[in-house]
Amino acid sequence: MSQSRRVAIVTGAARGIGAGIALRLARDGLAVGVLDLEESAAAVTADAIAAEGGTAIAVGADVSDAGSAQAAVGRLAAELGAPTVLVNNAGITRDNLLFRMTETDWDSVMGVHLKGSFLMARAAQEHMVAAGWGRIVNLSSTSAVGKRGQGNYAAAKAGLQGFTKTLAFELGKFSITANAIAPGFVVTDMTRATAERIGVPWEQYVQERAAAIPVQRVGLPEDIANAVSFFVDDRSGFVSGQVLYVSGGPWG
Ligand code: NAP
Repeated sequence: MSQSRRVAIVTGAARGIGAGIALRLARDGLAVGVLDLEESAAAVTADAIAAEGGTAIAVGADVSDAGSAQAAVGRLAAELGAPTVLVNNAGITRDNLLFRMTETDWDSVMGVHLKGSFLMARAAQEHMVAAGWGRIVNLSSTSAVGKRGQGNYAAAKAGLQGFTKTLAFELGKFSITANAIAPGFVVTDMTRATAERIGVPWEQYVQERAAAIPVQRVGLPEDIANAVSFFVDDRSGFVSGQVLYVSGGPWG
């Protein structure tokens, strides 16, 4: 199958890492379904892809809602072609120490990261199975090993690693691979919000974080997009069930 005819869905692609991934996959020759909560926000990324001569459609959907996820995949399949690449990137944080963490904090984070990835993978897999080829990439995090104030997020990101390996076992016979990327600190609105929440000026926060990273710099969405591009590549068909830490160092 020609790489240029493939269709990818990237969730949470209105901004940040997801936008970087969507742009990179479009540059790799894929048509991209840019999915985010608000279609108008997703359209900014889709327009940027179109401006470069790529093909993209913006779709508004909530990945944590089964009907919304299924409808989004159905619409993209009808308008763009059968999606055989899925990047589960949509995410939120609701950080708090355990004694202050509410059930809503817990449920929202589980809903978007874990349930959302499950619902999107379940909806997209039928197209991959029918094509006899597919790529699923899930966004985990270095927080998966545990992080103060992130009980919900760490549990979800660790859970995604188990989910990814299970997908690799179940879907391998259809030439579908499933891998996870665990980014370290990446400059996006999510990390800006963390700096704001803990009251550290952004520039200082970035400098401190960079100093603690072996390569002495923070990550950019392009760093994560590059790893996604590798997993999605036709030549990566023997790489499945892996967790790649993209964090400027070896830790996870
Ligand atoms: P971001 O800038 O906050 O972007 C996340 C995007 O996901 C937003 O556009 C958001 O939409 C969307 N989204 C949230 N809930 C959604 C839902 N239910 N359905 C559809 N879309 C939804 O985050 P980011 O920093 O780029 O992070 C992207 C992924 O990488 C996340 O999974 C995150 O956990 C992971 N990650 C990030 C870092 C980092 O340092 N930045 C490190 C490790 C892992 P709204 O704008 O409408 O909320």
